[in-house]
Amino acid sequence: MSGDPTPRQITPFPNGEIGIVWSDGHESYYDSHRLRCACSCARCVDEMTGRKVLDDAGVPTSVRVKEIHPVGNYGYGIGWTDGHDTGIYSFTYLRSLCGCGECAQR
Ligand SMILES: [Zn+2]
Ligand SMILES: [Zn+2]
Repeated sequence: MSGDPTPRQITPFPNGEIGIVWSDGHESYYDSHRLRCACSCARCVDEMTGRKVLDDAGVPTSVRVKEIHPVGNYGYGIGWTDGHDTGIYSFTYLRSLCGCGECAQR
């Protein structure tokens, strides 16, 4: 296999889950709230210290994906229904957030 796996398909489901099918055949499912709270943009994580400044409790658990757009060929920009739209999720980061049993063991 050459390079890191890339998403072949990303699908926000009505129940709030976001599914990704990867180029290596792996399938990941993310909870919208968890992914929103994992945002690593400058408004959510302090650039200087790397400390998270986003308060998870301030993010509604009903948060959903509003729109997804590709950023370069390395990630997705995700806009959320809570109005936050500055987050960029790289493929590598998304893959590292996969919570399936197989990935959890790595
Ligand atoms: Zn953010
Ligand atoms: Zn996985």
